[in-house]
Amino acid sequence: MSTQRKAVALISGGLDSLLAARLMLDQGIHVEGINFYTGFCVEGHTHAIRKKDKAKPKRNNALWSAEQLGIKLHIIDIIEEYKDVLINPKHGYGANMNPCLDCKIFMVGKAKQWMEENGFDFIITGEVMGQRPMSQRKDLLPVVVKESGADDRLLRPLCAQNLAATLPEREGWVNREKLLDYSGRNRKPQMALAKEFGFEDYATPAGGCCFLTDANYSSKLVDLWQARNKKDYELDDIMLLKVGRHIRPEAHYKLIVSREDGENKFLSGYRKQFSTIEIKSHNGPLTLVDGELSENDMQQAARIAARFSQGRDAEKVNVTVTSLNGETSNFDITPMPASEIKQEWYV
Ligand code: SF4
Repeated sequence: MSTQRKAVALISGGLDSLLAARLMLDQGIHVEGINFYTGFCVEGHTHAIRKKDKAKPKRNNALWSAEQLGIKLHIIDIIEEYKDVLINPKHGYGANMNPCLDCKIFMVGKAKQWMEENGFDFIITGEVMGQRPMSQRKDLLPVVVKESGADDRLLRPLCAQNLAATLPEREGWVNREKLLDYSGRNRKPQMALAKEFGFEDYATPAGGCCFLTDANYSSKLVDLWQARNKKDYELDDIMLLKVGRHIRPEAHYKLIVSREDGENKFLSGYRKQFSTIEIKSHNGPLTLVDGELSENDMQQAARIAARFSQGRDAEKVNVTVTSLNGETSNFDITPMPASEIKQEWYV
């Protein structure tokens, strides 16, 4: 009797990894998924917070993929280890702050470690040759193989026929003939295959699987590092970059102004970690202050915060500033006119 071979699949929550895993299941391979949590994942987070996105499904797409496939999913927190990948990417960044090639190498390397520890035989990913400019370029796919240490135990079922045969193919664990030869940016073949398999309502993130491919998010991250004079972050920092308007009127402080009720509630959870500005006389946003405020700064910050309240055109607006040690100052200010809020303050 032949041994049933086991593959660990990198499951991002997107369509490609879903299809790659399904192709392996159809070949009788035992598949379990790994989803790495970096903190930058797009799915769920902003949709879960913002009221305007309420209609969008709040689900963990990786878990949804596993459920569609009927496989076990291991969600692994790599927040700490991932810092070095993002802060010092050997292969640099993509169009924004996305270190995709280093990220792939790191994740495949982690999957290899998991594979060895758990007695699995090979790794599969949903990579498609030429689909993404940074990590899936034809000449870069071998870099992932080599630098991750996965060597020929890394199988990419969606484009395997364009690549040299891997160990699972050579050993006959999987039938190479039934693997695919996708390449390039055209998503139609994947969509047709999804239809064939009966997968509907799969996630289609526009930019990529994480916020690091987003230009606005990336500029906020760069601003954070510049303001702190070091490239470092905690999970709270990167969560907050996903929420609110970020305004830096002075180098030494930044305001995070909520844009709506859902964000107000989310930011309320950070009251103990930041000074806050609340508009008392009108409906208005909760504002977190990242940095130290002098007396002058306090006036300026409160005037900006009031600009985003319903009292924006009022003569006076009453605000309360609560500092980190719990001291409060209550005063009236005139909201800053829109024309005085400089464009370059928006991070
Ligand atoms: S988009 Fe983000 S998670 Fe995906 S490979 Fe690039 S850096 Fe990694």
